[in-house]
Amino acid sequence: MAAVGSGLKGSFPLTKDGIEAEIKHIAPGVFALGNLVDDRFKTLLVGRSDKDLKQELLRRIGQTKRFKYLLYDDAEDAFKKECELYHFLKPYANKGHPQRPQNRTWTCPDCHVYTDVIR
Ligand SMILES: [Zn+2]
Repeated sequence: MAAVGSGLKGSFPLTKDGIEAEIKHIAPGVFALGNLVDDRFKTLLVGRSDKDLKQELLRRIGQTKRFKYLLYDDAEDAFKKECELYHFLKPYANKGHPQRPQNRTWTCPDCHVYTDVIR
């Protein structure tokens, strides 16, 4: 994890135009939703999409005014980034640890919540 900032692109307006101007193709990704406070982006929620980040953001229009994002080729990488952001930023609106899909064995890089078996 970089010492400064989230490593995400943005922020951009969380509007249909703002999203479509930025995200041109269907891919997994991670996002942060937030607002500008004294010209600084304040994160309220982090999340991800395993298949289509653009659709996920379009569904969330209205939740905040701005978003940041990063696309990934691999959904597992998006999950790991989401975990990092969750632990690093502790966003107010995240009620619990990022969830992995039921059929995956992904683990969090920052804690042991998904360590299946300790031998
Ligand atoms: Zn964790």
